[in-house]
Amino acid sequence: MSYQELVQKIVQLQDEGLELFNAGKSVLGKNILATHVGSFDGTQILIQAGIHAREYITTLLLIEQARYLYLNDLVKQGGIYFVFLTNPDGAEIALDGISSVPCDITKEYLKLGNNNNDDFSKFKANINLVDLNTNFDANWGMGAQNLFCPNSENFVGFYPNSEREVQSLINFTRQVKPSLTISYHSKGEVIYYGFEGMSEQDLIRDENIGEVLSNLTGYRLIFTQNSTGGYKDWCIQTLKIPAYTIEVGSDSLEHPLKEETLPEIFEKNKDVPLTALNLAIQYQSSITVQKIFNLNTMEKKYEKSYGNCNTTRFYRLTKR
Ligand SMILES: [Zn+2]
Repeated sequence: MSYQELVQKIVQLQDEGLELFNAGKSVLGKNILATHVGSFDGTQILIQAGIHAREYITTLLLIEQARYLYLNDLVKQGGIYFVFLTNPDGAEIALDGISSVPCDITKEYLKLGNNNNDDFSKFKANINLVDLNTNFDANWGMGAQNLFCPNSENFVGFYPNSEREVQSLINFTRQVKPSLTISYHSKGEVIYYGFEGMSEQDLIRDENIGEVLSNLTGYRLIFTQNSTGGYKDWCIQTLKIPAYTIEVGSDSLEHPLKEETLPEIFEKNKDVPLTALNLAIQYQSSITVQKIFNLNTMEKKYEKSYGNCNTTRFYRLTKR
């Protein structure tokens, strides 16, 4: 598959009635294409894919998921944003090699970062040789595999949120205010949840939602350790929302996962978006219940202290 064919598959969703828009821009100015299924009212969730260049199988998965939900009219309340390909420059390099890269110096730079290898099919980074899923401002630079010089993978960037794709996803997320996010990656058939420094309450919430997603997909649920700077980590740490990294495809497969693996991956993941949305709606209403409960408690406390106050005042008055 070429990069153009991949983009064409996203664009063709418009022929089926889905509306496309830009979630932002890449370093080279490519549009980061997105769509929305369901209502813009109520709870929203965001699903993104293709942040690692070679993982375009996840883009193909999102195309199928969005189509499935839209054509079967499955989203009855709330809505789902799909960001198909967060790293379009990287995907083009992984799919087409560096022949399309605009300048010779950049070509040389990429080749050096790729261990002088002409084969870019396993490339993960963006065009600046930054691993975008380590560049977010969430314990940035503290991951076990982090590198501090440009590389085809694991380079965290020279400072957090330095990359245009990362800034785009952050801005878009802040704009659409999702109650939950899912980041699709390949491979391993596992779901990562949680991040350092979470409250006990958030941890229980995220574990409960994660268990449902784990049962649905058959993928093992794992608490994140020794990995930082990812989009999921940023969502948890900064936005305090449940966020998951889902790694599709068996670990025995070779990178990049081929299109033939898509039917099985789709089968295991087709109900993930709707289930995640419904879980987000549920926990949001439980937050509302919690807030009402807290309010009642506060009112009771206030009444009590007001009562005490009166008693004191009364006491003082009588003393006088
Ligand atoms: Zn990945």
